[in-house]
Amino acid sequence: MRFSILTLNPGFFSGSLDEGMIRIAREKGLLEVEIVPIRDFTSDRYGTTDDYPYGGGAGMVMKAEPILRAYESVRRRAGADTPRVLVTSPQGRRFTQGWAQELQGASEIAVLCGRYKGIDERVIPLLGAEEVSIGDYVLSGGEAASIVILDSVARLIPGVLGDAESAEADSFSEPLLDAPVYTRPEEFRGLTVPEVLLSGNHERIRLWRRREALRRTWHRRPDLILGRSLSDEDRSLLDEIKEEGEP
Ligand code: SAM
Repeated sequence: MRFSILTLNPGFFSGSLDEGMIRIAREKGLLEVEIVPIRDFTSDRYGTTDDYPYGGGAGMVMKAEPILRAYESVRRRAGADTPRVLVTSPQGRRFTQGWAQELQGASEIAVLCGRYKGIDERVIPLLGAEEVSIGDYVLSGGEAASIVILDSVARLIPGVLGDAESAEADSFSEPLLDAPVYTRPEEFRGLTVPEVLLSGNHERIRLWRRREALRRTWHRRPDLILGRSLSDEDRSLLDEIKEEGEP
């Protein structure tokens, strides 16, 4: 998979591509990340990438031309693989685990990072782009959003995570929130690990995890399960959880 990030702030990425799952995916040759500095594609000697908004008002707007030229360089390099293009925007469709899973199947992804007041609207149809938001808040630029997207997709590429199961059990994979996890020591500052996790009984542990995942989801994010069809086991666990009431 190749990820091209079109940005006015290439320095934002120094370091972050060399950490965690993004680094591992790159080292394994499963992911290539190309940072495309939009300023390199300006045509005037000042390297102008933004201009005043038509109609007036505060803030500057990213110009379409350098973005299109930057994208065309990606397009040429990609050859027959037409990139899936995402434009980061707080007005976009909310990014989800499902969307990350879908992107994991793409061989070429291009992400455009906005700055200032935003991007000239004509860029969206010209790039055939989907607008993507990472949440209902406003960042000063799309770079942080592009790292969020890149990280969540990179860890889903087959062969990146050492233990493939751990991605499958992650929150939202089902979609359910994940069960709580513990590691050594068994007792820490008076708090102990649930006894079942020390029992060595795989079936009890599986059931406990399922129950806790359902309990967390029910109390924290009921929207994830409301209206969904559940297995008989899940339904009976959830009935018990509801009877228990609030935690
Ligand atoms: N004026 C814009 C608006 O109200 O929709 C906000 C512009 S914001 C200051 C600058 C850039 O940050 C955006 O063009 C976008 O690329 C990025 N950005 C800000 N919040 C974001 C979010 N929640 N998700 C994704 N990108 C975001």
